[in-house]
Amino acid sequence: GDASRPSTAVHSTVPERFTRFDALPGYQQIALMREGARRLGLTDPFFKVHDGNAGATSLIDGREYLNFASYNYLGFSGDPRINRAACEAVEHYGTSVSASRVVSGERPIHRQLEQALAEAYEVEDAVAFVSGHATNVSTLGYLLGPRDLILHDEYIHNSSLVGAQLSGAKRISFPHNDADALDALLARHRGQFERVLIVIEGLYSMDGDVPELPRFVSLKRRHQAWLMVDEAHSFGVLGKNGLGLRQHFGTAAEDVDIWMGTLSKSLAGCGGYIAGCRAMVETLRYLAPGFLYSVGMPAQVAAPSLEALRLLQREPERVQRLHAISRYFLERARAAGLDTGHSIGAAVVPVIVGSSPLAARLSHALFERGINVQPILHPAVPEKSARLRFFLSCEHTRAQVDQTLSALKEVFQDSR
Ligand code: PMP
Repeated sequence: GDASRPSTAVHSTVPERFTRFDALPGYQQIALMREGARRLGLTDPFFKVHDGNAGATSLIDGREYLNFASYNYLGFSGDPRINRAACEAVEHYGTSVSASRVVSGERPIHRQLEQALAEAYEVEDAVAFVSGHATNVSTLGYLLGPRDLILHDEYIHNSSLVGAQLSGAKRISFPHNDADALDALLARHRGQFERVLIVIEGLYSMDGDVPELPRFVSLKRRHQAWLMVDEAHSFGVLGKNGLGLRQHFGTAAEDVDIWMGTLSKSLAGCGGYIAGCRAMVETLRYLAPGFLYSVGMPAQVAAPSLEALRLLQREPERVQRLHAISRYFLERARAAGLDTGHSIGAAVVPVIVGSSPLAARLSHALFERGINVQPILHPAVPEKSARLRFFLSCEHTRAQVDQTLSALKEVFQDSR
């Protein structure tokens, strides 16, 4: 036939469900969830609009709430000194660096931030990406390949999962925090692969528990694997100065091959970083797609995190206050007979309630009493461990915690 003539074939055999967006399974799941919430008389717990900075309290729809749903652990977001760092950066650099750093997007503030991170970790170098999620996707996706193996905790964050899938490496999960299970997997599979990477987190954000780092370090040594720790929730939180999982256990920086963290939690910004030896960091800087093919971090995002890092070092009492209020919350919650799982009482304390509808109802009832806490529902966690997840901040007071736990006791009673 004539290749330049438009085709007149009519594909009447393609079912509508393959051409309509509202037939996407995800869309239908959202519709079901909304309908379920409506039938229970609940407002949608997602996409609540906060009108200002979200700290220990937050303005939502014109009303001030006690807020336990934001990972502003050290209260740095909203700190006037950090706001000023952002404003000064905009005035100096403008609002965009207008190119990938590898071409013309490099600014002094980028290296200042990265050097400060490398110093905090006592490692050779660090590189900052514009997104925490993209940091894991690009780092795992680039560093590992089809001849390699990734072994990860079953509760690892979505960004690491997506990176592992992108890499093409063989991927096996081990039961949460179970170093013995990991040991067995390494013994069985190490020999068949070239590079092997173990991925764990410093503080698990759904459970508030930590891995036994020294055990993972000895395993990675014995089996000649690399160890990566995602410190999204542990940097700024664990250790007496907030220096993370390493300080919590008193291990050496070089015991972990790849330190990953985000700027979006304790460091009051947006973005992610990788810290470690020069060869690894340099490779990512030149070759990781999410760095190379993405715009450089805007200065007004880099500057506040750099300022937060400096303030963290100057004001370690913030970390100590965070520890004290978190432990207080955990102890009072336990004393009230609540199920806080394995939380160690550092910034993240879940209250496990056992079903998604109950978690949604309790969150709704607390919201009506001026307390904002996120319900974590199936499929984010198994149905029987649906929960309210409380994020603490160093700015929460004991009175606020007491008020919250007595409100929780009441709404629990009302729900029976
Ligand atoms: N890692 C972990 C463990 C996380 O919880 C998150 C998100 N909160 C990320 C990575 C991604 O970071 P960001 O939200 O800064 O993109």
